[in-house]
Amino acid sequence: MKDQLIDLKINEKAIKLFNKLGITRVIDLVLHFPYRYIDETRITLISEMAIGEECLIEGEIISSEVLYRPRKMLLVKVKDSSGLITCRFLHFYASQITQLSSGKSFRFFGEPKLGYNGIEMVHPKYHVANPLKELASTLTPVYPTVAGLTQHAIKKAIELAFKSNILEETVPSSMLQPLHLLGFSEAVKILHYPPPNSSIDSLLDKTHIAWKRIIFDELLAQQISARINYHQRETRQAPVLKGNKQQLQQFIQQLTFKLTSAQERVLAEIISDLHRPYPMHRLLQGDVGSGKTIIATIACLHTIYGGYQAALMAPTEILAEQHFIKIERWLKPLGIRTQWLTGSMKKKDKDGAHQNIKHHTVDLIIGTHALIQNEVEFAKLGLAVIDEQHRFGVEQRLALRVQASQHGQFEPHMLMMTATPIPRTLSMSYFADLDVSTINELPQGRQPIITKLIDSKRRDEVIQRIREVCLAGHQAYWVCPLIEESETLELETARDTFNYLQQYSPDLKVGLVHGKMDRLEKQAIMDAFYKNDIHILVATTVIEVGVDVPNATMIVIDHAERMGLAQLHQLRGRVGRGSQLSICILLYQTPLSDLAKQRLKIIYESNDGFELARQDLLIRGPGELLGAKQSGVPGFRYASLDQHEDLLSTVQNVADDMIQEFHLMALNHVTRWHGQLTDYLKA
Ligand code: ADP
Ligand code: MG
Repeated sequence: MKDQLIDLKINEKAIKLFNKLGITRVIDLVLHFPYRYIDETRITLISEMAIGEECLIEGEIISSEVLYRPRKMLLVKVKDSSGLITCRFLHFYASQITQLSSGKSFRFFGEPKLGYNGIEMVHPKYHVANPLKELASTLTPVYPTVAGLTQHAIKKAIELAFKSNILEETVPSSMLQPLHLLGFSEAVKILHYPPPNSSIDSLLDKTHIAWKRIIFDELLAQQISARINYHQRETRQAPVLKGNKQQLQQFIQQLTFKLTSAQERVLAEIISDLHRPYPMHRLLQGDVGSGKTIIATIACLHTIYGGYQAALMAPTEILAEQHFIKIERWLKPLGIRTQWLTGSMKKKDKDGAHQNIKHHTVDLIIGTHALIQNEVEFAKLGLAVIDEQHRFGVEQRLALRVQASQHGQFEPHMLMMTATPIPRTLSMSYFADLDVSTINELPQGRQPIITKLIDSKRRDEVIQRIREVCLAGHQAYWVCPLIEESETLELETARDTFNYLQQYSPDLKVGLVHGKMDRLEKQAIMDAFYKNDIHILVATTVIEVGVDVPNATMIVIDHAERMGLAQLHQLRGRVGRGSQLSICILLYQTPLSDLAKQRLKIIYESNDGFELARQDLLIRGPGELLGAKQSGVPGFRYASLDQHEDLLSTVQNVADDMIQEFHLMALNHVTRWHGQLTDYLKA
């Protein structure tokens, strides 16, 4: 099939310009839609023009003069049977003065405005009125373009594209009809050449019936490729993990708490995946504190009982460390051999760890990014768990899988965890090739966290409050402001806060933890905090994720206005982990930007991670939520997940049906939109 621009005999220079617009194939021209339209299909009487609404008029020039004050301009008065208008040109050639001389008839197209001399058009388009020249038969498209590429060149190229037989239907009519969708060629034709009297508004705000088809198609292409990726996974090989049901039950029963029914449900989903011969790709989402770690631990244990290794990767050393301590405490009594691995380990220790991993003298490896370095060779990795998965880029998530399958025939099962829930719209679109399990309840006895917004002028009152909490036997965090511009400054601020709190509270023990500390120092501080030897922990945002000290019942977040919603929610989630009432104080500095006000209001009003994620999506757009900026997840050109949410489930059904019954059409459809099948989220 001829689908390259060169096949339309477009010259190389123009092709380069088209490429800049993202147009590389003939079909891309067809999918390059106008951003506005001009209505030259009818002539409006001067007396019937509406101010601000572009229109075409036709009349005789009754006077034409060049003025020099207040600046040089050509003023042309035009009259038709109904009235008079002035056309004003600020830039003009001498030839235009002769051309636009009185007595001649012209058509002018422009936007009528109220000027000094009554109604006028500034720089209207014009051409000689020729009664024989027909009016445009469709609205005139105006295309997005780049410097050097004229409207005329784009229009010509699109006309050629329309003649080149590439508009075949890719969705079976039996599926289009019930949805009242137009045919593809009909829809694109309307968008490029709308018939007279089309509603320009609905064309521009994409509510026109022709748009509905295009948006449907774009969502469908994305959904089909996601579903194909999903099924493609079923053809790959992963170890069938049989585990040991009885021993697993024993482990669960001796825990100091009973799993919530949501935890039991997601665990069953995961274990059932692990029994399959193809890799699990499951996203486990659950609000902060919902108890994901124990679920991951049980999944690892199942894997180890099945004769394989398991790995758990966390985004920060503090979090990895915490997992290590906690999980080792759970699993050591069972004789499970755990291995710690991070970048900051001494070379000798790291080499030793690598040997252990390679020779399967360890079962469970817990660490940071160090797990995905080239030197790491897993003997038999059966399950890879990625905690706080949104903190990793797509490549990093992918690396763990590639890493592990390099040396064997099997790919590991993957469990990704997040407390930043993916809104339904996203999980149905971008994450369509993952399975999702959701823990939708918190363990019993948790009390909602009380959130307070306090002006930082009242800092000393807050300190007083912290003291009361700590003197009553509980503990508190003081989170120092995020200073994006300077890490040094961030650290200084943390030290100042630490000194201040210490001076203010000589009877309490204050600790400081920050990202620049080495591992042992950090570990010592965190250990002391777990043991309640430290009452107030001053911290930079390194404690954002995961840290779990149930006795801490108060958190102060300094300069809360600088932080994003997800981060605030994560930080707030450091408290409310036990049965005691917890409080989160958001200290803010005035004046507040509108965005900061909006965020603080939202976090104040809601404790629900799902609701916050939804709001975050509205404020920030899906890109940032997905970390798309680094990872290059393609966005939609025309569809918008907020606006077209209602279409998603329909699209999903059609995608599944097409893959089943009209496989070739489904592939063609994806090709039309993406060029080829994309594998962008095989995370
Ligand atoms: P998150 O989902 O945010 O990672 P964690 O796994 O850190 O949450 O769990 C929060 C706290 O709740 C931990 O102290 C954990 O041991 C505890 N926990 C987990 N499940 C339960 C449960 N079913 N009942 C009581 N406490 C639980
Ligand atoms: Mg966690």
